[in-house]
Amino acid sequence: MGCFDSIIMENPIKCKCGEELSNFQTKGLDCGLVSYVITKKGKFRENWKRYVDPKRNAKKYVYFEDIGFELHTSCRGCGRWHELYAIFLDGKLAKLKHESRKL
Ligand SMILES: [Zn+2]
Repeated sequence: MGCFDSIIMENPIKCKCGEELSNFQTKGLDCGLVSYVITKKGKFRENWKRYVDPKRNAKKYVYFEDIGFELHTSCRGCGRWHELYAIFLDGKLAKLKHESRKL
């Protein structure tokens, strides 16, 4: 089984079919089965309400470093593959690249 972290985007990405995408996975972080949130204001933090691994301690951690990582999902409506690259500067979403293609 591959490892990953999950990311919820409070500002969903729109697919070409009209479906809104808010649940993503990434292999670009620690791969600790952690659930993260990119908030409406573009902050990046752990998802304090839901942990992928329930044994993990719920520490409230907000990221303030400069980081960049990929995240991806496939559309539930049409199956289109979506790849994003998010760059955070001082803990705020500074850039979000978005590509999608048919599988
Ligand atoms: Zn779609």
